[in-house]
Amino acid sequence: MEEKKAVLIVEDEKSIVDIIRFNLEKEGYAVLTAYDGEAGLSAARTGRPDLILLDVMLPKMIGFDVCRILREEGNNVPVIILTAREEEADKVLGLEIGADDYITKPFSMRELMARVKANIRRTAMQQPAESAAPTVGGLTIDPENYQVSKHGKPIALTQREYELLTFLAGHPGKVYSRIDLMEQVWNYDYVGDDVRTVDVTVRRLREKIEDDPANPALILTRRGVGYYFAGP
Ligand code: CA
Repeated sequence: MEEKKAVLIVEDEKSIVDIIRFNLEKEGYAVLTAYDGEAGLSAARTGRPDLILLDVMLPKMIGFDVCRILREEGNNVPVIILTAREEEADKVLGLEIGADDYITKPFSMRELMARVKANIRRTAMQQPAESAAPTVGGLTIDPENYQVSKHGKPIALTQREYELLTFLAGHPGKVYSRIDLMEQVWNYDYVGDDVRTVDVTVRRLREKIEDDPANPALILTRRGVGYYFAGP
């Protein structure tokens, strides 16, 4: 039998933790909890969760710092930021510092469970061998080991960055709209304003893999249409 997937909830409002925990356990997840940022960071390091739900405003250390430190340590666990609806800037900042996704409060449990499922499913998904790209512009993707390198040097990508890259690189020259990418890479059936997530992720990816991120040679923009990987 497959081992249960574990979700770490880092949130200081106990009533929110309790309701999320109840719903996650009902869906068959193991649940870890932390009520402040420092405890959350520690639980992320030692508990090795499969996904983290991370509040922004937390005692001791804010959620952004927790996420940033984990990424600096090379921890690429999927992170969903829980943010207040008004704080539009938080969404972008969260993605900039390496979160995979965000969900705005108040959220429905149904939506939250769908996001958790989509993010964990992607992690568990094996990349098919045919998504392997040849070395293009010094970039090599090794799908066996989930390893991307540039001019022989390994590059640390988040789960989402890796999946976006392998998806685009697996279909070189084919242009995908942001909505296509949301559906194919993010596994979302709905999109709304979230297409901006794609832009931010593309920008972060370019900063990591392009020689000159301002003039990308690998992940290209087809203005008004979408993004594509440089053709062979
Ligand atoms: Ca809070």
